[in-house]
Amino acid sequence: MIERRIEKLRGFLPENSAALITNEADCFYLSGFNKSEGMVLVTRKSACLYVDFRYIEAARAVSVIDTKLTNAFLNDIYSALKAENVKTVFVESGSVTLALKEKIERIFKGIEVSTALDAGGIIGDMRAVKSKSEIALIKSAQEITDRAFLYILGRIAAGKTEHEVALDLEFFMRKEGSEGTAFDTICVSGKNSSKPHGVPGEKVIENGDFVTLDFGAVRGGYRSDMTRTVAVGKPSEKMITVYNTVLEAQLAALAAIRSGVSCREIDKVARDIIDGAGFEGTFGHGLGHSVGIDIHEDPSFNTRCKAVTKPGMVITVEPGIYLENEFGVRIEDMIIVTENGCENITRSEKKLTVI
Ligand code: ZN
Ligand code: ZN
Repeated sequence: MIERRIEKLRGFLPENSAALITNEADCFYLSGFNKSEGMVLVTRKSACLYVDFRYIEAARAVSVIDTKLTNAFLNDIYSALKAENVKTVFVESGSVTLALKEKIERIFKGIEVSTALDAGGIIGDMRAVKSKSEIALIKSAQEITDRAFLYILGRIAAGKTEHEVALDLEFFMRKEGSEGTAFDTICVSGKNSSKPHGVPGEKVIENGDFVTLDFGAVRGGYRSDMTRTVAVGKPSEKMITVYNTVLEAQLAALAAIRSGVSCREIDKVARDIIDGAGFEGTFGHGLGHSVGIDIHEDPSFNTRCKAVTKPGMVITVEPGIYLENEFGVRIEDMIIVTENGCENITRSEKKLTVI
């Protein structure tokens, strides 16, 4: 599998050129070794993961490409480039800082450093369509997420702080086999729930609050992402209306997804419903994003993304309505694009749950 990824990337490399991969997720994608501060060098003839002493033992155990110990990354890579008579090295414009680029140019004497062929973009396109094994890991992470939601439903109560609930949720996921949290867990309640990415704090959950939970697990380096909003105590009419509008927008978007559709068209389906219900301007983020090794990958469902959906893409569908100083609602599922529709891999209940 990884060999095929290397081959594909190599197909974009002209004579006497190489790609230097510095993005951590891309290094994992092209070597099989996760969590390193390493670099992957792909030339027309070879592919090698460079890591320092801290990671070498772990890397050698799992990496499916050549793995070399280095104490001086760029000097050793320069030697390898020289040995293969490489004249141009392509770097990832998305992950190489100006400082790193200057350093590379200083050390790689006589070699052109180019961003003309954006190695990061090519790998990004490859990563957008997930393989069967990648999908299996994402599903496994989502299964933990669904179980965690059922668990936490029995634990959310007026009187507990947001922080307490978030911690409880994270602890459960770790016990169930999650390698960490997919991102910083969001648990916001009442007025705090109008902040789409609010941080759980010492606010006590009260009767009459909406509680929005946005969380995910990690399995084999792959992530899941789900949001549910539940009511603690009797919700007001307005809360019910907002909730049902978000749910309607989400269901319509889910029904519109299939292969070959422009991402912004899917966003528009949900946005039109929210705007049409009188909530224009309250859904200030995109409808969804791809998920994989990183929590936010491309393509995304938003007003600008012209990418077209392909089978195997794993994308979230997460419309929301946020009323400043009142409350917010978001409902998020993760789907796999199929030829004629999508497979929703999120199983958790979406009818308004009142605790
Ligand atoms: Zn989320
Ligand atoms: Zn998300």
